[in-house]
Amino acid sequence: MASSEASLLYEGKAKRVFKTKIPDQVLVHFKNDVTAFNSKKHAELKFKGSLNCQISAFIFKFLEENDIPTHFLNIQDDCWMLAQKVDVIPLEIVVRNIATGSLCKETPLKSGEELPKPLIDLYYKDDALDDPLLTDARLDLLGLVSSSQKMEIKSVALKVNSCLKDLFKKIDLLLVDFKLEMGLNRKGQLLVADEISPDTCRIWDINVQNQDDRILDKDRFRKDLGGVMDAYSEVWRRLNKSI
Ligand code: UDP
Repeated sequence: MASSEASLLYEGKAKRVFKTKIPDQVLVHFKNDVTAFNSKKHAELKFKGSLNCQISAFIFKFLEENDIPTHFLNIQDDCWMLAQKVDVIPLEIVVRNIATGSLCKETPLKSGEELPKPLIDLYYKDDALDDPLLTDARLDLLGLVSSSQKMEIKSVALKVNSCLKDLFKKIDLLLVDFKLEMGLNRKGQLLVADEISPDTCRIWDINVQNQDDRILDKDRFRKDLGGVMDAYSEVWRRLNKSI
């Protein structure tokens, strides 16, 4: 698929979104770029776009089978996905099962501690502000979503967590935490959008004890551990074993 054939609607750090002839549909191109720390760290990793596109498609299909609506329509090519056009809600919806990352920088919890129940953290999606964590009152103040939408967002996020946790467990993977984005389609239906991949999830290998060796996600890039694409390929290999 030549990107010059379509007109660009939006370019993000890891994806580009193009218009199609059908107004309700967009083409999403998964790039090989990998960034961390709000783009302060950047690299290009061969096959990352294609792996994340395939992994996201697999997960979106799995969520649809579990009655969770997503924007996914089909895969067009290696790193191209056809999706429903949505107005993305500017929230990063993070669900955590195990404490790590920013949660451990901002609370006394130790990395690796299991949380008594899944924790949902909502961040305001704004690079210029460094995606700040929102309090419930600030979310209400900004008026980004209605109170019923807020409840729906949280309930969908928990449902995604429970489905993915089970799926990953079957293939000896621990779903530590992940980030979702959601949007509204033309009919006003709330859909899980963006991507769900090792770029946006923390995934640990249950069979490995060493704290660095068990990491199969973007933390390998954040922490300069190497083997980033080997880890993503391993997640993809195991997902294929789950069916
Ligand atoms: N995450 C993401 N995009 C972001 C920030 C976080 O996909 O802009 C994901 C991240 O990969 C992890 C989860 O959200 O799976 C929680 O990230 P955390 O808040 O711990 O932030 P970090 O430690 O990555 O700064």
